[in-house]
Amino acid sequence: MVYLDHAATSSPKAPGVALAVADALGTSIANANRASHRSAIAASMTLYRTRRRAAALLGAADSDRVIFTSGTTLALNMVILGTLRPGDGVLVSPLEHNAVMRPLQRLAQCASIRIDRFRCAPDGSVDLADYRARLAAKPALVVCTACSNVTGVMLPWPELAALARAAGVRFCLDAAQVLGTMPLSVTDTPVDFLCASGHKGLLGPTGTGLLYVAPDVELDAVICGGTGSDSASETQPAAYPDHLESGTLNLAGIAGLGAALEFIAATGPAAVARRLDTLTAAAHAALSAISGITVHSPANAHGVLSFTHAQLSPSALTREFDRHDIAVRCGLHCAPAAHQTIGTYPDGTVRFSFGWFTTEDEIGNAITVLRSIVCGCD
Ligand code: PLP
Repeated sequence: MVYLDHAATSSPKAPGVALAVADALGTSIANANRASHRSAIAASMTLYRTRRRAAALLGAADSDRVIFTSGTTLALNMVILGTLRPGDGVLVSPLEHNAVMRPLQRLAQCASIRIDRFRCAPDGSVDLADYRARLAAKPALVVCTACSNVTGVMLPWPELAALARAAGVRFCLDAAQVLGTMPLSVTDTPVDFLCASGHKGLLGPTGTGLLYVAPDVELDAVICGGTGSDSASETQPAAYPDHLESGTLNLAGIAGLGAALEFIAATGPAAVARRLDTLTAAAHAALSAISGITVHSPANAHGVLSFTHAQLSPSALTREFDRHDIAVRCGLHCAPAAHQTIGTYPDGTVRFSFGWFTTEDEIGNAITVLRSIVCGCD
């Protein structure tokens, strides 16, 4: 199987991940922070090590500000529901995933929050005058994707975050498509919140993700419960990470994520970025040369390419790829607004997405198959 669906989740996972998950499940690892027996301490150490590795990758000075989640979706919901109050405004890009838009639309319906979108062209360039004007209306939060999961286009988020900070508006970065696949430091480029998946660019297990909350920021907990700490109190602890981490965590997943983070640290996100960008540019050139194919991503897209064919629908193309054992994703990729922005709504596109383990040969194979599928359509 040629797997070109890394934007959904990585496959294979980093070396050591499966073993770490199996070890956590197979040994007598207990619940973390719940007791003082040896197995509970081993579990707490697993959390501690993984949290420290995640903080190091993010350039975060305080690892207690790194919260384990089940993925980017939960992290985004925690930020959105924990920040916005009835009547608040929120500013988003027009390329957001439904992990952002669905909680926002729910709040628009039940808490009258106002959703505003800044202007952003399909190539990711943002109309900064328009962005500044919308910030001046004092939304309570900006939520912005670092990289579109539909086109691979990068948004100028460091500049957008700095402008939001200068305007006194909280900034939440959806880093689902970039954490692990490019250097990123919350110290060099401060954001108030960063939400990411453990199972995409980090090459960790599904069901893992991260939320980073800046040290000077307080976030209301939307999920409250047992943390093993301050048990005499029936109110949620204020100390991080417990404030935002209630209930039993996905310890086996977090053990796997720890192994994945070790691999990414040894490989280096800059090396991953170079590899992905080289693969993407080569695939872009090859796709663009096929008669009838329109590529909707720029040549400098980051690991993701969307394309359509003049006659064959995205779903028909995807079925053909599947017949040839090539896994790609078609449709709207949970981001209808992004497809409206690039003019491919409602049919969507076919998406190739690459990862650290994708090879030139696999992409060459997919391109050869695509040529054979579309030949005869001229
Ligand atoms: N945000 C973006 C930009 C995504 O691409 C995705 C998933 O594809 C998500 C959020 C949701 O991530 P998760 O599956 O980890 O919840």
